[in-house]
Amino acid sequence: MRARGSWKCQSRNVTLAHGCCVCGKPPTDALEVPGVLVCRLCAAALGRLLENANDAVLAVLWRRASPPIGDTRRGCLPVTAPEAARAHYDLGCGYIEQGLDVDAIRELAAVLSPIAPSSMAAAAFSRIFLSPEARPEALSDLILAFRPMLTGS
Ligand SMILES: [Zn+2]
Repeated sequence: MRARGSWKCQSRNVTLAHGCCVCGKPPTDALEVPGVLVCRLCAAALGRLLENANDAVLAVLWRRASPPIGDTRRGCLPVTAPEAARAHYDLGCGYIEQGLDVDAIRELAAVLSPIAPSSMAAAAFSRIFLSPEARPEALSDLILAFRPMLTGS
């Protein structure tokens, strides 16, 4: 009896079979996110995109679009050390509880930095794109709209 042959992929993401959901290549360094295959570097590119996106773009990623307070693009400092990632992640989760979704996404996006520990980046990616707050099509829409920017082609 071969256990491997009976394994069924439970993924809900059709891009899984074709490589990284952003660049399409088989990733050598993938983030461990359930149901999504994404390179560490592509996830970081998504993070930079979200950090620099205007509030209107961020507001459509999640179901309850809350108006942000002021210009949140100035409020988030880049992750420059691995230990700073946890602070950004916790702040992002705090913003979710306060209903400040745009601010939350921007803080969580900072954690997608390649400097952040892989487990933290994976947790932030899941929170942004796979949480109950996220619109199911948010990730695919974002990739479709910004693929040339994300892959540098
Ligand atoms: Zn990729």
